[in-house]
Amino acid sequence: MKRIEHLGIAVADLTEAIPLYEVLLNTPCYKQEEVASEGVKTAFFQVGESKIELLEASNSESPIAKFLQKNGPGFHHVAFEVADIESEIQRLQSAGFQLIHLSPKAGADNKLIAFLHPKSSGGLLVELCQEKNP
Ligand code: ZN
Repeated sequence: MKRIEHLGIAVADLTEAIPLYEVLLNTPCYKQEEVASEGVKTAFFQVGESKIELLEASNSESPIAKFLQKNGPGFHHVAFEVADIESEIQRLQSAGFQLIHLSPKAGADNKLIAFLHPKSSGGLLVELCQEKNP
């Protein structure tokens, strides 16, 4: 793992959360993007070498909608940047981790991503991500 690329935070409503986080972090939201395949709308903030990703559900079947029902808004996942996501998926699988995505898929912010199942990672939802065009 190269670094913490971003922390994902589930929110009920981006239009309320974005101005809150802009004041909290003292930096403007630099990108908003919908990932239709995941049922999420995202908003990004740069914080030093890492980012904050806000996630709003775009439909009631979205994993974020289910998370909010269960836990309410707040911390959702940590994303680690990796140099080679395919080999990292293989390494973690061989080490006994359960992956939600066995092959990388397109995520927000020009990334290839894969999530680990929190059951196999001590309850922590972990995202692997690799820049698409380095
Ligand atoms: Zn993420």
